[in-house]
Amino acid sequence: MKIPCLLQPRILKEAIKALVKGPYTTKFPFKPHKPFERFRGKPEFHPQDCVGCGACVQVCPTGAISLEDKDDKRVLTVRWDICIFCGNCQANCLTEKGIVLSREFDLATTGKREDLYQSIEKELVCCSFCKEVIAPSDQLIWVAKKLGTMVFSNTSLMLFYFAQENLSEARGLPETEIPSLRSDRFQILCPKCRREAVLKS
Ligand code: SF4
Ligand code: SF4
Repeated sequence: MKIPCLLQPRILKEAIKALVKGPYTTKFPFKPHKPFERFRGKPEFHPQDCVGCGACVQVCPTGAISLEDKDDKRVLTVRWDICIFCGNCQANCLTEKGIVLSREFDLATTGKREDLYQSIEKELVCCSFCKEVIAPSDQLIWVAKKLGTMVFSNTSLMLFYFAQENLSEARGLPETEIPSLRSDRFQILCPKCRREAVLKS
């Protein structure tokens, strides 16, 4: 004979537990719901910890994070309406805390879905000669600190870092000038211009 569902030991145990402890479900939206600690909610940039490297843009499977270089600024944007809360961005962040998934999940809005975003700006370092983007300044400082004394192995990085620390002055080249003198090698240059400076000097 088939035992009625409610009398099955496992279900009976759960029913008694629920009677004593109360139901598992919460009263959301009538009462705020606090998700468990490792819940993956809305990802948020932390501007003080993000260096603007763009690794999160590369690994986002839905294209929810975008990057745009405009003049001397890099704009990073995360769109919550197309994010699937997978956590890839946080797991692959260079600094491990530049973008972090919060526990916020209630993103319903009566406004436009395009308004669900966060943008941050990072200052860019460009080649002294051709103005090609090298990297965000925060990223160069982060790399220089990681390298320690090995920063001397990269002239542009070393010059930029020293200028930041007020140990030297970054010298700019007139735009029409082609790096051709030996002294031009001591400029913040992109890899292409550095090659030219080395070959022509
Ligand atoms: S959680 Fe996933 S989908 Fe959302 S922004 Fe990060 S990588 Fe993209
Ligand atoms: S530091 Fe992290 S959050 Fe910032 S751009 Fe790089 S990967 Fe993205």
